[in-house]
Amino acid sequence: MNQMTNHLPTAELQAIDAAHHMHPFTANTALGRKGARVITRAEGVRLTDSDGIELLDAMAGLWCVNIGYGRKELADAAARQMMELPFYNTFFQTTTVPALTLAKRIADLAPGDLNHVFFASSGSEANDTNIRMVRHYWALKGKPSKRTIISRKNGYHGSSMGSASLGGMAGMHAQGGLPIADIVHIDQPYWYGEGGDTAPEEFGIARARQLEEMIAKLGEDNVAAFIAEPIQGAGGVIIPPASYWPEIKRICDAHDILLIADEVICGFGRTGEWFGSTSVGIHPHIMTIAKGLSSGYQPIGGSVVCDEIAQVIGSDEFNHGYTYSGHPVAAAVALENLRILDEEGIVTRVKDTTAPYLAKIWKSLEDHPLVGEAVSHGLMASLAMTPDKAARAPFAAEKGTVGYICRERCFANNLVMRHVGDRMIISPPLVITPADLDLVVARARKALDETYKIAQDEGLLVAG
Ligand SMILES: *Cc1c(COP(=O)(O)O)cnc(C)c1O
Repeated sequence: MNQMTNHLPTAELQAIDAAHHMHPFTANTALGRKGARVITRAEGVRLTDSDGIELLDAMAGLWCVNIGYGRKELADAAARQMMELPFYNTFFQTTTVPALTLAKRIADLAPGDLNHVFFASSGSEANDTNIRMVRHYWALKGKPSKRTIISRKNGYHGSSMGSASLGGMAGMHAQGGLPIADIVHIDQPYWYGEGGDTAPEEFGIARARQLEEMIAKLGEDNVAAFIAEPIQGAGGVIIPPASYWPEIKRICDAHDILLIADEVICGFGRTGEWFGSTSVGIHPHIMTIAKGLSSGYQPIGGSVVCDEIAQVIGSDEFNHGYTYSGHPVAAAVALENLRILDEEGIVTRVKDTTAPYLAKIWKSLEDHPLVGEAVSHGLMASLAMTPDKAARAPFAAEKGTVGYICRERCFANNLVMRHVGDRMIISPPLVITPADLDLVVARARKALDETYKIAQDEGLLVAG
């Protein structure tokens, strides 16, 4: 019997899982008591669990299944490549056809002079590459003191030592002795939560100016780069005021530092453009990619690097690489994914049809008594729950208490919507139809109604 399709009763699967499987970002004791939800199949935008329950996946897996589930073309591409050449490395002057073809394809899609790709198997690995690459770049340019990387609080760049240090998640830094040296963080452009009485556009400028202040404080000669997500994803789908990115761009242009755009979520159509950088009007020196590159069908990521940096890095041996850099099967699958995204006009459809439609119906949730704001950019959206809409106040209860209730109510209504604290977020597959977006919003509204009732009953509707 096929081990992967041999479905034991759910309780047995859960017991085995609890006994032997350590989950990321999960308190395993809590999981042991409750049991993990076992996902067994998926098609289009719908998941099926081990009890046969169908869920609308408004998170595209983990922000990655851009073309939706069940695309046979990707499975065929993997099978063909496995039979032809399942693995070969790209170290020491060797290459493979899928790796070089994918590098060219990404260079063609990427804006301007971003023409070179250093492959990894994940976003975390790619950001570790970026740390070493920008520091080594400045060393080769005769400026070894330019080492510090400026990043943002509540940014997310991955889970490895380097990438979690770039990230600004306090809970991650608290475990394992992070951040590593020479990484500093400025505040995020989160107007709803941190803007107080300042007007959004003014706040956007103020938060961007923190970059200039930090550069001045450290000295331009000590700063290698600034890294940020065009739109923060894991931090809660935080969309900066329109004034923010133009000001960041001005500051980066005025000072001799590199700009790294972490496109792991925003890349490959999420914003209605191929890259979020285009969507927010910036031109980075390096872009981090992963997730949507293969629609999650294979683990692959990378750093897309501009001509100047690639030339300087290439002048010396860069003592860096992963066994699976440019893995031929992952690359073949990514190529097929990019072909489908392009030929089926999926990115264009997000821009012209589904993103404007989502913006309209998502906004309608702002009339709900629990919802302080409901915002979207492309096909990513978030809403803030609050006990006091006028004051944009947080709950008195521990952060995430109400968010967790809402997430559970979403599951009960066959919708996968995530919570980040008390913000609810979606990032559906890019192939989702307007009819299914209607269903997402209808189920979200029902879950919010039920959450409101529970919060009322438990006395949680109190501002903190
Ligand atoms: C998910 C994510 C990463 C990390 O990617 P992994 O493949 O999980 O290592 C990095 N940056 C951003 C913006 C992400 O959303």
